[in-house]
Amino acid sequence: MSDEKYRKAARTIVKAGLIPFPINDTMIELLKLLIDEEHLPFVMAFRKKSSQTMEQLKLSSKMSENEIEMHVKKLTKKGFIFNQPSSKEVMVYRLMPLFMVGVFEYTFMKKLEISEENEKLAMLFAKLFDELRNFVQKNYDNIVPIYQNFPPIDRTVPILDKTTTGEELKILINKEISIPEEKVLPTQKVEELINKFEDIAVGHCFCRHHKDILGNPCKTTNIRENCFTFGKSARYTSDHGFARMISKDEALKIIKESEKAGLVHKAFHPHEDIERDETSICNCCECCCATFEMWRKGAISMINSTNYLSYIDEKLCTGCSICINKCPVNAIELNDDNKAERNAEWCIGCGVCAHFCPENAISLLEGMRKVYVPPPKLRN
Ligand code: SF4
Repeated sequence: MSDEKYRKAARTIVKAGLIPFPINDTMIELLKLLIDEEHLPFVMAFRKKSSQTMEQLKLSSKMSENEIEMHVKKLTKKGFIFNQPSSKEVMVYRLMPLFMVGVFEYTFMKKLEISEENEKLAMLFAKLFDELRNFVQKNYDNIVPIYQNFPPIDRTVPILDKTTTGEELKILINKEISIPEEKVLPTQKVEELINKFEDIAVGHCFCRHHKDILGNPCKTTNIRENCFTFGKSARYTSDHGFARMISKDEALKIIKESEKAGLVHKAFHPHEDIERDETSICNCCECCCATFEMWRKGAISMINSTNYLSYIDEKLCTGCSICINKCPVNAIELNDDNKAERNAEWCIGCGVCAHFCPENAISLLEGMRKVYVPPPKLRN
């Protein structure tokens, strides 16, 4: 009976997000570890609507305000409920999914001690991600067309130290990428992005932290505390102990260190709408970032919004392959002339290749576009 209740709650939690996780034994075990059974009826109140006000919740849950507050208090600490006032100053309670963005991110954003329980939690998430891959691969022809209609999940904010907008390159831009003219461009400079916000919080990179607990530490960097939330999200993550408030100066210092390490800035916007102010920014490495990894492993599509595309000057390229090793999405390979060649459809315009190129052979072309790359179809 208890498993059936968890299964029903799991369906509601999966529905609150974008990713089609299978409702299976791993998911139930994970939820049992994270949510006490007494909270399941409250989770079920979000069955029809994942964001509700207190008045709406009283109706959907048939609970009193005190009871609702009790559940909210417990579930916010676990990252299942996001509670912040709307622009009209009405408190809104949102049920969070397990991943992108939800419980996984909040759980590992907080520094966790190495304990049997936390190792089990990390292992169950890893197992669930693998099972998602198996599920997607098995139902590839049904699921991938659904992914195709998703909006961009994240937006690249590039390392801009080698940007070029010269005339010759502008011609190339027009040839290679289409530029929607009427779009309002979101901030492209990470410093400007940080400077927009009064409330900034920093937490642990949940992906690297998750891998640390699994005993598989990052091969790219030792930096851990560089996952930023802004505004409402900063107030939520700091209020519930997932992150800590920091000054702009400290944020800029961490951003600079992350750039030096060649980490990719990925910004997230409310409801994936890039015209609205960012909620958070990640600094991702190729080896640990869960979205890069899950795309490579065949579980999810890579869906990104970017204003840049790398351009490799063949005359300057010596074929050293550094960019090939650094590109987080495997968008570069050596061609028959031993020159680096970039795949325009895969490039998310992060600038990491340009940042590390010892010959200054790579620069970034401008032009807003959506990158969509389906998960690879693996052989069974
Ligand atoms: Fe980034 Fe790779 Fe594109 Fe270079 S080629 S900008 S490293 S995604």
